[in-house]
Amino acid sequence: MSVDKLIQGYRDFREGGFEASRPLIEDLVERGQRPEVAVVACADSRVDPAILFQADPGDMFAIRNVANLVPPMEREGTYHGTSAALEFAVKGLGVKHLIVLGHAHCGGIEKMMSAEPGVADDTYDFLPSWVSMLEAAHRRVLATMPNADDETRARACERNAVLVSLENLTTFPWVRERVEAGTLKLHGWYIDIATASLSAYNGETGHFEAVA
Ligand SMILES: [Zn+2]
Repeated sequence: MSVDKLIQGYRDFREGGFEASRPLIEDLVERGQRPEVAVVACADSRVDPAILFQADPGDMFAIRNVANLVPPMEREGTYHGTSAALEFAVKGLGVKHLIVLGHAHCGGIEKMMSAEPGVADDTYDFLPSWVSMLEAAHRRVLATMPNADDETRARACERNAVLVSLENLTTFPWVRERVEAGTLKLHGWYIDIATASLSAYNGETGHFEAVA
């Protein structure tokens, strides 16, 4: 894989997919994008939501970061990339659905799980504090499955991370208000990239359930 492959892909798109969806794209340019769905996905190169869900242009507003995390609402600080994108999706575009898409074999979550407590990371400046929002979830997993192997714990942490993000979403008043009014629905999904199996969190059972 190289940049040349991407350039070739661009040419193929320009002559193929772009031409085929030209009327749709012209409409999206003239009338603006109107996606009903926003997805928070990992930046991982294997979990591109547009590919996984076979989305067309205009279908989905995608927000991607390390470990598909939604941080809690914070007023301090300046550069809140994920929060700004969410705010635009919810307030600006009025999306009806917000999906947090977790995935198996997440490097960001592995990083958080392998961090030595209290030991400064001399490789990364930003990553440790970003994934540290999952530390409580990690502790919960360790406490509830003391005898599980690392793989099982990692899969549990990845699913728990989706729940942490769903919880954090409700700390934004403009999310909470819309959820309460029934104009916005939150979804927690999880995909195992090795088998392309998708599951969805069921708030009533407290479990991720396979999507047929
Ligand atoms: Zn990931």
